[in-house]
Amino acid sequence: MKTKRVISFFLALVLALISFCSCDPFELLNAYSKAGKLICHYLDVGQGDSIFIELPNKKTMLIDSGENYHGEGIVKYMTREGHSRIDYLIATHPHSDHIGSMAYIVRHFDVSTVCMPKVSTSSRLYEDLLKAIKSKKLKVTSGKAGVNLFTDDEYRLKADIVAPSKLDKENLNNSSLMIRLTYRDSSFLFTGDAEKAELASISEKTDISADVLKVGHHGSSNATTKAFLERVEPKLAVISVGKNNDYGHPHKNVLKLLKNIGSEIHRTDKEGTVRISTDGGGSYTVDTGLNSIERVI
Ligand SMILES: [Zn+2]
Ligand SMILES: [Zn+2]
Repeated sequence: MKTKRVISFFLALVLALISFCSCDPFELLNAYSKAGKLICHYLDVGQGDSIFIELPNKKTMLIDSGENYHGEGIVKYMTREGHSRIDYLIATHPHSDHIGSMAYIVRHFDVSTVCMPKVSTSSRLYEDLLKAIKSKKLKVTSGKAGVNLFTDDEYRLKADIVAPSKLDKENLNNSSLMIRLTYRDSSFLFTGDAEKAELASISEKTDISADVLKVGHHGSSNATTKAFLERVEPKLAVISVGKNNDYGHPHKNVLKLLKNIGSEIHRTDKEGTVRISTDGGGSYTVDTGLNSIERVI
């Protein structure tokens, strides 16, 4: 009985403190568990890409946005994680499974920097995105190899575009912005849909090593080579791919190459949204089975 009374006293005290501070306990807990971490959410957007990144300096990054019916789900997901703005919005290349929902996202969030490759397409979705960017008076940075997206020395945090060195206007996949993100001793590589030609054109001097690789082009056989994997040496590989897709992605040879190099493979078609977090020390926590974007809608 005595223990019960002590517990009730502490509960009452905690509740009183919370109401006195007028702060949301879940928000507090959320902020506490995320402090000092870089958290990468490979969102389950079916056949497509959308990666939401919470940076340790409290800024956010969104790489791609899936097809056009995922906007509401992505906005809800990010809001639930406690965010209402995107500091760095990246469109790797203007295919619908990467920029489909971006106009919606630009209209519903505060966005600071927009970065995309200098290629265009006549699709309605792309034109709608340009319209949304214009109506918000946002400046677009042209992305290509050698561009530094940001450097934060205080946090030892950095994002560089490592490819493409030249744009391919015929095959937009080969104009995909490839981004290397590092936080202290942890590293991530995001590849868009870059195919063999783009992979092969990356200068030997460019550091593309990364512990965590977003596998290129949804695991297609034209986007992963042994030579490329030997340069990246990923410990973890994430394939963003739709369940029972028409393309046969991911290709069995790609899975084999990843296994041979010793990568632990995660797939959004099997595991839903994949969340990888790190405190920058070179080790990673992988969480799966989270609320998928599809289920949010
Ligand atoms: Zn794609
Ligand atoms: Zn593509």
